[in-house]
Amino acid sequence: MALIVQKYGGTSVGTTERIKCVATRVAKWQAQGHQVVVVVSAMSGETNRLIGLAKEIQSSPDARELDVIASTGEQVTIGLLSLALKAIGRKAVSYTGGQVRVLTDSAFSKARILSIDDHNIRRDLADGNIVVVAGFQGVDEAGSITTLGRGGSDTSAVAIAAALKADECQIYTDVDGVYTTDPRIVPEARRLTTVTFEEMLEMASLGSKVLQIRSVEFAGKYKVKLRVLSSFLDEGDGTLITFEDDRHMEQPIISGIAFNRDEAKLTVHGVPDRPGIAYQILGPVAEANIDIDMIIQNVGHDGMTDFSFTVGRGDYDRAKAILDQVQSRVGAREIAGDKTIAKVSVVGVGMRSHVGIASKMFRTLAEESINIKMISTSEIKISVVIDEKYLELAVRVLHKAFELDQVPA
Ligand code: ADP
Ligand code: ASP
Ligand code: MG
Repeated sequence: MALIVQKYGGTSVGTTERIKCVATRVAKWQAQGHQVVVVVSAMSGETNRLIGLAKEIQSSPDARELDVIASTGEQVTIGLLSLALKAIGRKAVSYTGGQVRVLTDSAFSKARILSIDDHNIRRDLADGNIVVVAGFQGVDEAGSITTLGRGGSDTSAVAIAAALKADECQIYTDVDGVYTTDPRIVPEARRLTTVTFEEMLEMASLGSKVLQIRSVEFAGKYKVKLRVLSSFLDEGDGTLITFEDDRHMEQPIISGIAFNRDEAKLTVHGVPDRPGIAYQILGPVAEANIDIDMIIQNVGHDGMTDFSFTVGRGDYDRAKAILDQVQSRVGAREIAGDKTIAKVSVVGVGMRSHVGIASKMFRTLAEESINIKMISTSEIKISVVIDEKYLELAVRVLHKAFELDQVPA
């Protein structure tokens, strides 16, 4: 007998018919002798609808109340799934995050899990129940409802699996695993049988939304066995996220291509090239809690330089307003912004032992006349910022150039 945590995302519980299918699938696991905890998302589109309602009343809704609203989608799903399980003769009990006591900090809309009380879940499992928990939500010390950021049900599931020391955490979604890139953009993308934590962490942080990045961080930290599978197929092993790179020696050097449209670039033109300038520009941006991604300072000329960086598109207006204030203080000539950029990244642990990946990436993009605006690298990834309109083309040609469409030998 194993203890399994299964998570079903929005599309997988998108209709009552789908919820009945999930109930049947969960019941089958229990019938095989396993204890099952199910974490569910809101029905697809529901969280967007709820946030939209809040914005009809207040364009930047109060953070605490927005979480009260946004978290309700999951509450509906836990009730419906528990009903569906009872309807097929199973014992089931539903819990909101607060009822479990998924304790978080108070950073509304991006709260971090601090602890999970496993007492009720363990007791109910021992009584033969299937335990159904609302993903995406928790409660802070003051008793306020919090949410964990978009896609946060993945993190709820992994955190619950870690708290229960579950044998496996299974993320059921609308694709049958982690692919070499988003199969919606490149139909030739291939499913990976395994992917290392390091690679998954990079892919998630660089925009592959198949797993929320915090869920991968959690799984790595608490050594949770994590698998991504399809809720629409009856068979298949999905993709296992592995700790060791035990793949074949001849494995491809690049494992996947990630992309992110959700970025914007800001440039401070004509600033004096002197010590402290980066701090003067970026300090106020960081103080406003705006995450900065890539940074470039150009080679100075006549004692002046240009300074560029990227932020999430949602933070663009705030960051621009801050720079407009900083402009006179640092003596900059002009502040320019670009909201039509996208970031494409190639990821692979094999890069450590191979040279020439960057030049192959740049050549491939050059052959399509795609201009690179910014570059950043780490040991296992290379990212470039390009014009958003070339994003899909870039992903497709890179996928082909790195032979990701071909089954490795
Ligand atoms: P869920 O609602 O189940 O949480 P998501 O929409 O959050 O599902 O994540 C699944 C989606 O992630 C897929 O439909 C796919 O379009 C997208 N995706 C992006 N990159 C990848 C990738 N490398 N492998 C698989 N899916 C990916
Ligand atoms: N329902 C939430 C969202 O849409 C959480 C999740 O689906 O993981 O972001
Ligand atoms: Mg998701």
